[in-house]
Amino acid sequence: MTLRERDRNSVWHPYTQVQTADPPIAIVRGEGARVFDESGKTYIDAVSSWWVNIHGHCNPRIAAAIAEQAARLEHVIFAGFTHIGAVELAERLLAILPGNLSKIFYSDDGSTAVEVAVKMALQYWHNRRESKTSIIAFENAYHGDTFGAMSVSGDSAFTAPFAPLLFPVVRIPAPFHGRERESIAAMEKALESGNAAAFLFEPLVMGTAGMLMYEPEPLDTLIAMCRAKGVPTIADEVFTGFGRTGKYFACDYIEHKPDIICLSKGITGGFMPFGATACSEEIFGAFLSDDKMKTFFHGHSYTANPLACAAALASLDILQRSDCMERIRYINARHNATAERLRAFPSVKEARVTGTILAVELHTQGGTSYFSAVRDAAYRFFLGKGIIMRPLGNIIYFLPPYCITELEMTAVEEAMEEWVRRTKTRVLEK
Ligand code: PMP
Repeated sequence: MTLRERDRNSVWHPYTQVQTADPPIAIVRGEGARVFDESGKTYIDAVSSWWVNIHGHCNPRIAAAIAEQAARLEHVIFAGFTHIGAVELAERLLAILPGNLSKIFYSDDGSTAVEVAVKMALQYWHNRRESKTSIIAFENAYHGDTFGAMSVSGDSAFTAPFAPLLFPVVRIPAPFHGRERESIAAMEKALESGNAAAFLFEPLVMGTAGMLMYEPEPLDTLIAMCRAKGVPTIADEVFTGFGRTGKYFACDYIEHKPDIICLSKGITGGFMPFGATACSEEIFGAFLSDDKMKTFFHGHSYTANPLACAAALASLDILQRSDCMERIRYINARHNATAERLRAFPSVKEARVTGTILAVELHTQGGTSYFSAVRDAAYRFFLGKGIIMRPLGNIIYFLPPYCITELEMTAVEEAMEEWVRRTKTRVLEK
């Protein structure tokens, strides 16, 4: 039996309609921006393995750091105990995170980093004996798949089966170009009730919604409005953190800094499942008391896992102490040039770039749905070219590990151009 057949017999994959999906490709090895399957075929990872990998597969510095840590201490309960990696990582994150944040709370992934943030904000008010229970969030946002994270995400096919069980959220439009005033007016209204416990947002890029991008200025205004009313703000930097948008964090582009920041994905360079939620002294202070009921009763078995901390520290070293930011600027320049070129094709509705993210939205008859047939055709087309690309409906995007080579970038760009050209033909044919 091949690995694929054995997989089919025993494994249930995420976001996959198993009955109709192609069988999964068995990957046996990774190196740089590439992974290799069991037959030796090479794939360029144009999506950084679900947006987590920033320094390349099997980056030797991160691999060595994990191996070294594994030989010393693999894990220890994090209530009542600590370890050097957790402390050092918190110190280093706080040193580079935007604003004046003062504590790091560890968890397991992006969804739990968001759950922690939302619970922190809600209990902040509860501990102060003030009744504020509503969360303000953007329409069409995506913050994860656990129940709290689903609640604060926009309504979608992902959340539909659970809709009656999700807590209500005040949704406002994100401040996309031309909709800034609408977004600000909606925020004004949302703040009127006086019941807002927090405002949660994906800064500058809404990834799952389709790599939708907006400018820093209107976000600054929204945060300032919340600050004026004493409403804590939460930046979900799970996707945008660690250089993805061209700076260490997307919130580095704005003047008013959030009170809470959620991190995951790139935090370990893509090696380990890990999440972190940073908060201000003001938030943290509301949990300090002689009253045990004000404790933050939240934690996971693997909280602050030492292997993940070791990976994160090594990943930070690479981000801060190598030519990484230069690579990021190079990718950004290439993306801008590619976007310019692709905009000339009639099938391209919009080509947009933020940092290392290039998104190309096509005019297609398949519509914009996540489930559009265009999406499946594009996915197979790129796979056929040895490129891992997971379109979001009619939006193809390219966000590579920062170590991708110039030749690998060219291969992906050429394939994107070919797909864009073909799409035009298809629209005309129909
Ligand atoms: N927030 C954002 C902005 C995300 O993009 C994601 C994942 N795509 C999550 C939260 C959830 O992270 P995870 O899949 O690690 O739970």
